[in-house]
Amino acid sequence: MGIFSDNEINSILAEAKKVAIAGHVSPDGDCVGSCMAFYHYLKDNAGELGIEQIDVYLEPFGSSFNVLEGIDEIKHSCDADTVYDVFVSLDCSSLDRLGKAVKYFNTARYTVNIDHHISNIGFAGYNHVISNASSTCEVLFDLLDESRINKEIARALYVGIINDTGVFKHASTSGKTMLAAAKLMDKGIDFTGLIDETILGRTHLQNQLLGRCLMESRLILNGKVIISCLSLSVLQFYGADHSDLDGIIDQLRSTKGTQVAIFIYEKEPEVYKVSLRANGNADVRRVAEAFGGGGHIRAAGCTIRGTLDEITDRLIMQIKDELMD
Ligand code: AMP
Ligand code: MN
Ligand code: MN
Repeated sequence: MGIFSDNEINSILAEAKKVAIAGHVSPDGDCVGSCMAFYHYLKDNAGELGIEQIDVYLEPFGSSFNVLEGIDEIKHSCDADTVYDVFVSLDCSSLDRLGKAVKYFNTARYTVNIDHHISNIGFAGYNHVISNASSTCEVLFDLLDESRINKEIARALYVGIINDTGVFKHASTSGKTMLAAAKLMDKGIDFTGLIDETILGRTHLQNQLLGRCLMESRLILNGKVIISCLSLSVLQFYGADHSDLDGIIDQLRSTKGTQVAIFIYEKEPEVYKVSLRANGNADVRRVAEAFGGGGHIRAAGCTIRGTLDEITDRLIMQIKDELMD
């Protein structure tokens, strides 16, 4: 018996002195939550496991996740040439989504991939991918020994679950998700505060950008698709980064009568990040995959190069096939 409910993970970690933890680029709540939960869990049990060093690597993200303890211990630079015994990837569907941290993946003795994306093909030495789970944090909850989940670990897991389920309302939410959340609540966490801090509370800049996107949104394909875009020049004018754009796609998706919502922003000149959400049956993951991206049936994303007109035309062509009459 080890501290995980999965024997393979127990035996891999039994060999480890140095462990690296990382999630996907442009980290979201599930990514940050799962990395922090795993970090605290290993740290709490480091003595028993014989682990001497645990490092978390993530790209910079919004300040709303500062409610979680240990956020300031996360490394945002991958300059050090540390070689790890074990590299654990969380909430990341493919190797290219690990960003710069991939260098530690490439040199680690053992690699572990814990995730919930259907598009995850199992890129690590050991893969634990549960594609019907709402979030990586839900997957992690099942892997951890419940009696060792302290309040801080529970807070991090809860943040991941509420962020990926839109506070238990997306179709990926199941009875199992609710049971996990209930058990986390029983650990005495400040659940209303966590929802306010990481989801409902918005900065003035986030609201300004949301307002602008809603004002400039357009209905296309007979009103079945809503689309809105932000150019690099507008983002630079506001001094905004990707974390200032959270929630825009969800607000677009809430538009009655639409089957698909598209939010596009320019990351670099003529490089566009596309977020796709589906109401009903459209499979936006298939659309994202056609452009080298991925995700879930109702929430997916990709990055496309070209002019805005070109990429919207190409997206519309792909989406047409997914729409119902
Ligand atoms: P986003 O629109 O960025 O919030 O992403 C929606 C979902 O699709 C999330 O589960 C992401 O992890 C996933 N996703 C976004 N972009 C990509 C990509 N380029 N490749 C694979 N999965 C992605
Ligand atoms: Mn994620
Ligand atoms: Mn996730």
